[in-house]
Amino acid sequence: MEIKTIGVVGAGQMGNGIAQVAAQTGYNVVMTDITDELAQKGLGAIEKFLTKSVSKGKISEDDKSAVLSRIEATGDINAHKKCDVIIEAATENIDLKKKIFQQLDELAKPEAILATNTSSISITLLAAATKRPNKVVGMHFMNPVPIMKLVELIRGLPTDDESFALIKELSEKMGKTTTVSADYPGFIVNRILMPMINEAFYTLMEGIGKPEDIDTGLKLGCNHPMGPLALADLIGLDTCLSIMNVLHSGLGDAKYRPCPLLVKHVEAGWLGRKCGRGVYSY
Ligand code: NAD
Repeated sequence: MEIKTIGVVGAGQMGNGIAQVAAQTGYNVVMTDITDELAQKGLGAIEKFLTKSVSKGKISEDDKSAVLSRIEATGDINAHKKCDVIIEAATENIDLKKKIFQQLDELAKPEAILATNTSSISITLLAAATKRPNKVVGMHFMNPVPIMKLVELIRGLPTDDESFALIKELSEKMGKTTTVSADYPGFIVNRILMPMINEAFYTLMEGIGKPEDIDTGLKLGCNHPMGPLALADLIGLDTCLSIMNVLHSGLGDAKYRPCPLLVKHVEAGWLGRKCGRGVYSY
């Protein structure tokens, strides 16, 4: 199958990053969100990123215009009817994603492949919400998408070889290196990363260190490019909590219980960089 048009569901930080990289690779892109305004906000973020790239001399003004002209941003999910591959990147919530997969399955071309950027939710479960479970694949990009090289690929129990190979090839065309993970909660990256971030919240809650001490400790002591609390703010604390809940319920081990201080931040609406306040203020 030749891929011409890629759909992206969700125009948040991951969705707009995926849409940008797909358009920069030369694909036509349809990016949707719940409303036209949210979709346009995502397009605005792409424009801002590209403007910075022009000012740094990385791309030309013509390149920027060409990329933007390939992206349609809308609140209408039906715009995905013309897509060959649809990548779901909406909020990390099982019921929401199941509903989106049901909708996409009903409206998409029969041969279209449905991928998901979920950080932790079962690909097999989302596949079972559709009548094309063999054509559902996990395609886990990292944040920020235009910069991070990895795409973690996950095959659900019913995913067929052809769909998996096509998503692998697409990821590589988009300039990414792929790894393969089995379909278990958190896959590989978040199975290891999220318990570390959660433990950083316990360290903070128990008064063992201030945020700056915890982050500097891991940056300079372990050579991490960012401290775990600053990284949590970048990922989004709501996303971190959802992933911990999936690890906790899916693996059933008390070691994955979400830190109450992480829960409190989410209750307060302190979700990180995307809303101006998380562990730190922005
Ligand atoms: P975000 O909060 O920035 O964006 C989510 C977007 O989804 C919002 O714009 C929201 O309006 C939209 N949305 C909600 N319901 C929708 C619907 N029914 N239809 C269309 N759009 C809808 O979150 P994000 O960080 O972009 O995360 C999106 C997905 O990517 C999640 O599954 C998350 O686990 C995954 N992910 C996140 C990161 C990260 O570092 N943040 C990394 C890898 C994967």
